[in-house]
Amino acid sequence: MILSFLSALGSGNLKDMWIIYKEFSFEAAHQLPHHEGKCRRLHGHSFRGRVYVASEQLKTSGSETGMVMDFGVLKAYLNPLVKDYLDHYFLNESLGLENPTSEAIAAWIFQKLEEKGLPGLHSVEILETCTSAARYFSPKLSSLIVASPELPS
Ligand SMILES: [Zn+2]
Repeated sequence: MILSFLSALGSGNLKDMWIIYKEFSFEAAHQLPHHEGKCRRLHGHSFRGRVYVASEQLKTSGSETGMVMDFGVLKAYLNPLVKDYLDHYFLNESLGLENPTSEAIAAWIFQKLEEKGLPGLHSVEILETCTSAARYFSPKLSSLIVASPELPS
């Protein structure tokens, strides 16, 4: 893997990459029925989240010139989800998840944003507390990260 990486560096195959994110927050309750500790009980969090969008190029015309995407556009994809499913909801019910861990919530939000066609969607992170977070990556992206760069034969 390291050797492939160095070869790619030498052959100029590496591409520019930008990642932007929009942070959001919501107050919500959940219950983790499988947990053998206190998370089994109904409780709430001030959740924070981040949606990451990646691009290998910046826009070259219009209002978004020099950007991956206007943060306002990203917010417009996100806000309806926060309003209709996340903020002040009981997540087990509103998301239809039996066991809404931070991992599951991140994947749920990712799938919704993917269905809405958010271009360049890279990952979704959910911070349950100041020190604990989970991040979900697209399966497509995971395979890109693992795959060796294509090298000239
Ligand atoms: Zn919890």
